[in-house]
Amino acid sequence: MSDQWFFEIGDGNTYGPYPLEKLQKWAASGNLMPTHRVRSADSEEWIIAAYVPGLELTTTAPELHRSKEQETKSIASFVRGLGKKSKSKGGAAGDNDSLQVSSEPPDIVSLCDELLEISFRRGASDLHIDPEKSVVLVQLRVDGILEPLRKLPKSVLGPLIGRLKVLSGMDIAERRLPQDGRFVAELGADRRKIHIRSACLPTTHGERITLRLLALETEQLTLNRLGMSESAMKTFAQHTGQKQGMVLLTGPTGSGKSTTLYAALRHRLAHHPGRIITVEDPVEFDVVGVAQAEIDPGDKLSFNSALRSILRSDPDVIMIGEIRDFDSADIAVKAALTGHLVFSSLHTNSASGVITRLVDMGIKPYQVAATLRLCVAQRLIRQLCTECRRPRKLSHAEAKVIGQPNAAGSTVYEPGGCKKCNGRGYRGRIGLFEMLPIDEGLARQIVEGCDEGAISRYARSKGILTLQDDAALKLLAGATSFSELVTVSVW
Ligand SMILES: [Zn+2]
Repeated sequence: MSDQWFFEIGDGNTYGPYPLEKLQKWAASGNLMPTHRVRSADSEEWIIAAYVPGLELTTTAPELHRSKEQETKSIASFVRGLGKKSKSKGGAAGDNDSLQVSSEPPDIVSLCDELLEISFRRGASDLHIDPEKSVVLVQLRVDGILEPLRKLPKSVLGPLIGRLKVLSGMDIAERRLPQDGRFVAELGADRRKIHIRSACLPTTHGERITLRLLALETEQLTLNRLGMSESAMKTFAQHTGQKQGMVLLTGPTGSGKSTTLYAALRHRLAHHPGRIITVEDPVEFDVVGVAQAEIDPGDKLSFNSALRSILRSDPDVIMIGEIRDFDSADIAVKAALTGHLVFSSLHTNSASGVITRLVDMGIKPYQVAATLRLCVAQRLIRQLCTECRRPRKLSHAEAKVIGQPNAAGSTVYEPGGCKKCNGRGYRGRIGLFEMLPIDEGLARQIVEGCDEGAISRYARSKGILTLQDDAALKLLAGATSFSELVTVSVW
């Protein structure tokens, strides 16, 4: 293999050839990253720098507190240095080490670490890296809202995506197909292990990548902090302690169902020791003391066979990430009938919809009545920042919208914006809940074959708080704003 090497850093240019010795110097100074692509002068094939024999690459040294200006400047100066180099052709024999001019190397590893760290510290659920025509836009999703973090020079896109692909276990050479991956990062002052799921997608302006910080939301929201009213909390806690039956959660994607499921498992574990097994896609959060199996539900066969084998391993509690079809519903029902408590989620709009959905999937009404113990409908709403929220009076029209005409004139709050909430007016999220326990009367109605309307009327007659009721309570308590509730469209 030749001693001469070309390399590229993702700006569309090829640099070199340079002797290996030079590459080694740049690697030692942090200018050449493990994710950069290189090729030997006598080969057409590009490989990742990390695989070049004899090249010792620095992969650590995260500098987390470098300012944005410093970072942009150092990357820019590195790229400018390369430009000069490549113009003076035959740089192989060149004497200069102009690449090392920068005392602050354009360390992509540090940049990655910094972006992840910021995402974590701001409590973001997602970090988006989107190439545009001439810049790379970095955005965070915080409390469900996307907000810009910074713009990076386009030249860092290649190395940045490359680094994240390596971390995620993706194929770095594949640039035309979408890829999925995952990794664990240690973030925050106490270096907590955070699971990150990544998805890479080619676009016209280059590859974009989205990182989802899985543990954050679930971590923040324990049962006490979910925002359940006292009575809802009591109902929920009581059902998580039952010996057998099904507790099913429902709500659209992003409504915090898995958060509640994890909180339920933790609560169960703390108060009723026993064997808990989960089947999830993906495992979003490690729960100590719980056996968690990660199964791809796209592979129906292995999903259902895994569920069956889990039943044979004698658990007390089973958590199934989601019931999607008759097979998974059937297994859940059978488990619940044979002495297990089953937690799972289902896609419907309301708590009463769970019953009709199970029947539509092919479960017999008497089986539903015999196993279902509690249906929980849930939405997530942003919580007003109490430092800067602004009071105002609820109008007559709004009072009507929330189904409480008598509440007109009551004080409600609007988002303000202050340092504490980064000017957002909101800090954190809480859930809206509707708890529908299946009591004897309702079980009888289910067996007799009732529709969703009849179930809702029954719930009303029993004084069950609906999502709408809970929303109105939280608005009048100043926990959230009218405009926020309208966005989750509970009315
Ligand atoms: Zn504020």
